[in-house]
Amino acid sequence: MNHVLVTGGAGYIGSHACKALRSAGYVPVTYDNLVTGWQDAVKFGPFEQGDLSDRARLDQVFQTYDPVAVMHFAALSQVGEAMSQPGLYWRNNVSGSLSLIEAAVDNGCLDFVFSSTCATYGEHDNVVLDESTPQQPLNAYGASKRAIEDMLGDFEAAHGLRSVIFRYFNVAGADPDGEVGEFHRPETHLVPLMLDAIDGKRDALTVFGTDYDTPDGTCIRDYVHVCDLVDAHVLGLKWLQDGKGSQVFNLGTGSGFSVREVINHSRSVTNRDVPIVEGPRRAGDCTKLVSGSVRAEQELGWSPKRSKLDIMIADAWRWHQTGHYDK
Ligand code: UDP
Repeated sequence: MNHVLVTGGAGYIGSHACKALRSAGYVPVTYDNLVTGWQDAVKFGPFEQGDLSDRARLDQVFQTYDPVAVMHFAALSQVGEAMSQPGLYWRNNVSGSLSLIEAAVDNGCLDFVFSSTCATYGEHDNVVLDESTPQQPLNAYGASKRAIEDMLGDFEAAHGLRSVIFRYFNVAGADPDGEVGEFHRPETHLVPLMLDAIDGKRDALTVFGTDYDTPDGTCIRDYVHVCDLVDAHVLGLKWLQDGKGSQVFNLGTGSGFSVREVINHSRSVTNRDVPIVEGPRRAGDCTKLVSGSVRAEQELGWSPKRSKLDIMIADAWRWHQTGHYDK
């Protein structure tokens, strides 16, 4: 069977990736410690609970399923937390990934798709980031992902591990069929927090910083629909299986939206008011991150279909209203 080991398969992006893998004829095996993931999101293949640091458990899972590849999503990913607790990020993300990569190599699983981030680039004035932009992360989250990218290169040189690395920011939206959607514990992301504020689950959305050097003073981000994002991961897996070798791809739309623009679109999509309060900047936030994806489109044949802001918000809103993960 075409098993793919999906670390973090119980999380937001990982669960959507499992659905996409299943549709593409693979059997996704979710490996997740459920610290931030949610077992109800594991719907498309077997579930194995475990921690990245547990090498014996990883070996057992590799030996049980003999996966054709690893898709590695499991990570801590909150910029604010990374600023205050960098040790968590280096231990969980970097050291955990080392354990996973060693287990993959030792068990002969040499195709590896890695979920990295444009946060590895850091601050670059008014440029659309491409894969050759220097990586100068501003926070321990970005630094931890860059370190894992480096690690993959070293393991390729020594052991023949092949990797497709995706760098992306900011993922939004939900499965249009409503089977899975966005959920974090605790929630820190703009779109779900805004939807909570819209339907009264929280008093207001705090806008983090209104004095950035942008047209309306709020941070600018490039939003990609989670379904488009995971489609790229399946293409990346096929790329590796076709023997095309290691490559790095940015995944973005090339268009940036400020926090205020996201709020305004949400007002019109939901036809509801968005209560906001203006707050100070959040430590570690870059002013602007817009990620071009010419390489993914030209080489991988990626063509985003739902990555329009209004579609992302509408899909997220539909999911949000089901209350699936309100527990
Ligand atoms: N943001 C905000 N209020 C919130 C959460 C996020 O103003 O309650 C802003 C944040 O400063 C950033 C953008 O929204 O500019 C996206 O943040 P998010 O945490 O969703 O993703 P990140 O950019 O950290 O990956």
